[in-house]
Amino acid sequence: MSQPNPPLESVSTISLRCLRCQKSYPADEVRYLCDCGSQLDVWHDLEALRPLLSRGLFDGRLSGAPGPRVTPTTNSGVWRYREIILPATVEHIVSRPEGNTPLYEHPRLSNWVGADALFLKHEGENPTGSFKDRGMTVGVTQAKLLGARAVACASTGNTSASLAAYAALANIPALIFIPAGKIATGKLAQALAYGASTLQIQGDFDDAMTLVQQVCNEMGVYLLNSLNPFRLEGQKSIPLEILQGFGWQAPDWIVLPAGNLGNTAAFGKALYEAQQLGLVDKIPRIAAVQAAGSSPFYQSYRLNFAERKTMKAETIATAIRIGNPVSYERAIRTLEWTNGLVTAVTDEEIMDAKAMVDGVGIGCEPASAAAVAGARQLIAAGVIQPHETIVGILTGNLLKDPGATVDYHTGAWPNAQFANPPVQVAAELAAVRKVIEQRL
Ligand SMILES: *Cc1c(COP(=O)(O)O)cnc(C)c1O
Ligand SMILES: [Zn+2]
Repeated sequence: MSQPNPPLESVSTISLRCLRCQKSYPADEVRYLCDCGSQLDVWHDLEALRPLLSRGLFDGRLSGAPGPRVTPTTNSGVWRYREIILPATVEHIVSRPEGNTPLYEHPRLSNWVGADALFLKHEGENPTGSFKDRGMTVGVTQAKLLGARAVACASTGNTSASLAAYAALANIPALIFIPAGKIATGKLAQALAYGASTLQIQGDFDDAMTLVQQVCNEMGVYLLNSLNPFRLEGQKSIPLEILQGFGWQAPDWIVLPAGNLGNTAAFGKALYEAQQLGLVDKIPRIAAVQAAGSSPFYQSYRLNFAERKTMKAETIATAIRIGNPVSYERAIRTLEWTNGLVTAVTDEEIMDAKAMVDGVGIGCEPASAAAVAGARQLIAAGVIQPHETIVGILTGNLLKDPGATVDYHTGAWPNAQFANPPVQVAAELAAVRKVIEQRL
């Protein structure tokens, strides 16, 4: 049964609140850090929201609006949950719309992973091909509400592609800082195509990150890295959609790739809030999966977080090639809230898992496959039981990084298990027939 929608902006008061010292600031102040130096959360008055929000309210919005025109409040999988994300009025919302991504299940893939049922939430089917759209619709909407003169981010690729698109939609100039030569072709193409000013920094991601923060502070540009708490609010809609997709009966596990840890942070906050609001009784455990060559969070986890590790990051999975993750503290909180854990997988495991995901017709970019490789490893280790319900997050689209895919299939990985190289054939029917007969 659908319930009437409460009028926007009357239902929630939000503020920015420090993770460490609890100091709060008005939500319309441009600020990314507390005076004490710690990061900020968007804080919702859960007590006030509890009586207004229900499963029925969100389920009633699922059908979408009739007619040709897309309305974010009915067609977006992010703004469906607006009261606990950002209570903006509809005319300010910058939306494609995003979200409402499918949950795939494929027996051959589940079997390879060792699970009775592995579900894959395909965030690569968002408008610009990654989950970053869910954060960016909220971040750029907030930029508009604040009257920002420009928006900026440092990025391993997908954040810049998404920022460029949403800034273009909102008619706000976008500045993008990317590490020179370390960005997948599909992502660079998007940033340029969507009209962003693109600065190729002669350094790595962490250098680009430092510079963009300095520029934003000095030049009055609104920063839309995952340091920005509004982006994380939008990304909360991924686990919310999963809970809703499972009829508000939580799966046992959510397994996701972890780089800058924004998603890990957002997932924990969403699940905590959903439980506090009484939308679910039980929440899934989070398993965050890093690439072995870019695993500072995993290294710290193994030390019980006694020490914050950083490293020079290297991995084929460029979207998680991050040596000093921004949302470190918030991600630790996620592990506490969800009884979560962290693991790491090798690049070979990532590429073989990707080939499996691709090979069943679903497809994803390398970083996404870390989730599948991680689920497989955790089942083999007996941490996840085969009968448990597992949702893996495919964070990005296959077409983002065509180079990595072609290299895998054409011999760049000597131990590749599932390489499918193209065959050179003479332009003669007999030769073609011979190849086909061998294959069928
Ligand atoms: C951004 C991104 C990640 C990493 O997410 P974090 O929130 O930085 O941990 C993983 N996969 C893809 C495809 C991404 O774009
Ligand atoms: Zn503080």
